[in-house]
Amino acid sequence: AFGDFLSKKMKKSIEKNMQKSTLTAENIQDTLKEIRLALLESDVNVDVVKELIAKIKEKAEGGYIQEGVKANQQMVKIVHDELIEILGKENSPLELSKKPSVIMMVGLQGSGKTTTANKLAHLVRKKNSKNPLLVGLDIYRPGAIEQLVELGQKNNISVFEKGKQDPIITAKQALEFAEQNGHDVIILDTAGRLQIDEKLMNELNELRKNTSPSETLLVVDGMIGQEIINVTNEFNRLLKLTGVIVTKLDGDARGGATLSITYMTKLPIKFIGEGEGVSSLSPFYPKRMSDRILGMGDIETLYEKAVENIDERSMQKTMKRMFMGQYDMEDLRNQLAQVAKMGNIGGLLKMMPGAGKISEDQVNDAQRKLVIFSIIMDSMTLKERRDPRLLKAITRKNRIIRGSGRSEKEFNELINNFDKGKKQVMEMTKMMKSGRMPQFGG
Ligand code: GDP
Repeated sequence: AFGDFLSKKMKKSIEKNMQKSTLTAENIQDTLKEIRLALLESDVNVDVVKELIAKIKEKAEGGYIQEGVKANQQMVKIVHDELIEILGKENSPLELSKKPSVIMMVGLQGSGKTTTANKLAHLVRKKNSKNPLLVGLDIYRPGAIEQLVELGQKNNISVFEKGKQDPIITAKQALEFAEQNGHDVIILDTAGRLQIDEKLMNELNELRKNTSPSETLLVVDGMIGQEIINVTNEFNRLLKLTGVIVTKLDGDARGGATLSITYMTKLPIKFIGEGEGVSSLSPFYPKRMSDRILGMGDIETLYEKAVENIDERSMQKTMKRMFMGQYDMEDLRNQLAQVAKMGNIGGLLKMMPGAGKISEDQVNDAQRKLVIFSIIMDSMTLKERRDPRLLKAITRKNRIIRGSGRSEKEFNELINNFDKGKKQVMEMTKMMKSGRMPQFGG
């Protein structure tokens, strides 16, 4: 089915590269390389791929680190969120508030326009409790009007048609007929052509001006691949579309062109067709599509669960250890994880006393350190974190730098920060033990 190809590739690359517990520069890079390839192979537009990869990279590297949540879960979450953005964020529902609401269906011949008009009538009757009227205006394609009538009869939907009469006159009569017969949604099945031409566009434009549609929907054949973007842009330029319906996606497992439409044309995909049957038209939900591509049931919940599972008691344990003078890098790591878990470090810092003096730069720096330090500490063994003196050995140091993909400078920064922090912790606990509570803020 639609998206299967991409889904398989995505899952494989994330699973393969994200075995480690956290995101590192290295596994991010490897995964992105493969995701990029998977997107291109699925026929996603190059510009969309670029944008998507840049966004994912930025998030993965820029402090999305969440201790206790596996790297693959983090990556899935990031890719999932960015896909939703690219796909248009929210479902774009039909505008049906006008009484009656006119929906004008346009598209090239063979795109599935007539079939889809019928499916849409069926859908608004079922889901929106509307009383639709189909109007046959395709006077060019032989048999198009008969086809519409036949489909209407089969599915018990009223069809208005006046044969080869001028479509504008027929449309006006249909509006009157709808009013007299209580039809609140009027679906116009307009003429298609084999390719876009000025004459056809002018006719459609006249029809549009005469019927003031609430929706002008372009029906495109999903099988034509990247050509979808050109067709959509052309129709939109001349007809001011309100959305796109992509058909025949049951035959296109790759579907990358469809995934590119909204980003490339700024138009929402309102429905997708995945079969010839009357009920095989579904509203398009960016989130559900993204779920589908990443093969997740409900990844939102999955992620929340994982975050919840971070050991709640680790903070208390750390406090206790600090009091006993036992502060080591494992404790620092737990603390940073807690901070990360609380989310936005900027927001956190601002809530602290004396926050007025904290600049944007300082917040960014803290955020960056949090991420980088976590990555470096993840490349240490537990033994090394428990006994940071071991880190003085040059072979250990080099191994950690290599493994984390960070620089020596950053490694040293971590050690210095840890040493400074440990000194403060020791002084603090000494004061606490002697009954003199340290003063914060002010
Ligand atoms: P029109 O010229 O744009 O009105 O195209 P039609 O509505 O006649 O559709 C052309 C062909 O595509 C017909 O055989 C339809 O049954 C078929 N078709 C339309 N939508 C879909 C779809 O979502 N999946 C499949 N498999 N076939 C479709």
